[in-house]
Amino acid sequence: MPVIRANVLGMCFGVRDALTLLRGIEAPQTVTIHGELVHNEVVLHQLRVRGFGMVTEAERDALPDTPRVLVTAHGVSDRERHRLTAAGKTLIDTTCPLVQRVHAAALKFAAAGFHLVVIGKPGHVEVRGIVEDVPSHDVVPSVAAVRTYGASRLGVICQSTTPPELAVSVLAEIRRRNPHAEVTYADTICRPTREHQRALAELLPQVEAVVVVGGRNSNNTVELARRVADYGLPACHVVGPGDLEGAWVTRFVRVGLTAGTSTLEETVDAVERRLEEMMSSGACRI
Ligand code: SF4
Repeated sequence: MPVIRANVLGMCFGVRDALTLLRGIEAPQTVTIHGELVHNEVVLHQLRVRGFGMVTEAERDALPDTPRVLVTAHGVSDRERHRLTAAGKTLIDTTCPLVQRVHAAALKFAAAGFHLVVIGKPGHVEVRGIVEDVPSHDVVPSVAAVRTYGASRLGVICQSTTPPELAVSVLAEIRRRNPHAEVTYADTICRPTREHQRALAELLPQVEAVVVVGGRNSNNTVELARRVADYGLPACHVVGPGDLEGAWVTRFVRVGLTAGTSTLEETVDAVERRLEEMMSSGACRI
């Protein structure tokens, strides 16, 4: 068995549910997807072919031409919802329930008078949706970015795909730099993110290298590849089977396989098949 799969990998329920809802939409030409539905080029291509309108995340400030607007699994702020509905748009909402949970935690902190600190990537579409409704906030991507905040109560939450270890170390630094503040933490990391990372950790000791399947700008896919490299193994991040290079693959006898939360099962299967073909042909030359 030259290719070993992580025991949890690929598409999460949040993205799967969003795609299921999209499959049932009639007249896709009347719908604009408000930003990238998922950070996965294969999925986006399929939606474009069906006729959905799409705008990039950077273009979302303009009003779409279509009467219907689809909110992606990453969610949007209430402010953005109101802007769209006030312009007469009908919203189709595919916000993941685990992102809704992050919004609820943020609003609860804000309502109780806390200064909100979000552990996550500044400008990321999910983070924008969370903080746009909370005037008093900071977004902290790393331990080095933590500072002393001029608030006596700090409410800390995470972008849903934050690596758990990063959350622990950033939270410790927030407490260290703000000894006089009351610091309350709500763990809002999503379960699929944790499970993908745990499954990868179990896979790493069994293989010589890992192929990570997912979109080039998918946060959680990039994070999986980073974890492989941090462990000291070669990582190959591919969008699909066409990205695999024989010269790289045939250096190894046992290769691990994982995939980000927006990767289609059929893409993972195609990469696995191609990998096995390449490895078996490479094995003849060993
Ligand atoms: S990665 Fe987590 S938060 Fe994002 S869509 Fe999937 S389940 Fe939901």
